[in-house]
Amino acid sequence: MSRHELHRMHRIGWLRAAVLGANDGIVSTASLIIGVAAAHSTRFDILLAGMAGLVAGGMSMAAGEYVSVSSQADIEKADLALEKASLNDDIEFEEKELADIYRHRGLEPELAHEVAKQLMEHDALAAHARDELGITDTGRARPLQAAMSSASMFTLGASLPLLVAWWAPLDTMIVSISSASLLFLAVLGMLAARVGGASMKKGAVRVLFWGALAMLLSAAVGKLFGVVV
Ligand SMILES: [Zn+2]
Repeated sequence: MSRHELHRMHRIGWLRAAVLGANDGIVSTASLIIGVAAAHSTRFDILLAGMAGLVAGGMSMAAGEYVSVSSQADIEKADLALEKASLNDDIEFEEKELADIYRHRGLEPELAHEVAKQLMEHDALAAHARDELGITDTGRARPLQAAMSSASMFTLGASLPLLVAWWAPLDTMIVSISSASLLFLAVLGMLAARVGGASMKKGAVRVLFWGALAMLLSAAVGKLFGVVV
């Protein structure tokens, strides 16, 4: 196997979205539940808060991802339209422009010109999209798909601490939720690191740090409110 096959950049897009969604679901729901539990609430209150957090978070993930990927798609579309018009208007200028790009990347002027010419004969718009705008077909944005996958990964993540809140004894709720959630986070971080080809320990430590911080803060806020109110 050549080293080339070990590259993993093409997996980064969906992996980033999936891990972010699940991570968000675990951290925000666990923190929410811990915050409410720290204020000495009933199991019903705790579960209600967790459910509300799951729905709100899932929807917010979907909306956020949809809007962000849509605007990315709009920008790409507008850029491509502009490029197309410009190719129609002045093909010579565009050929020189592409040749200049290859020259800056290190090709000799004549070779750069020849490469630009041949690539444009093959597919002028694709060549300009890729090498001038950085838009490749595989990277083309899909808003609805992104929204659905983020929301479902969030829901999946959120349901983990929620399930623990359902089963765990009320008096040790905070300990059960935080330890279970940290375990989920560590597994998720290691999984993501493995798929991404990075160090599993580093991946776990990274998510554990932020997860623990979030839960600690919300436990503190919940304790404070529980005492004050
Ligand atoms: Zn161009």
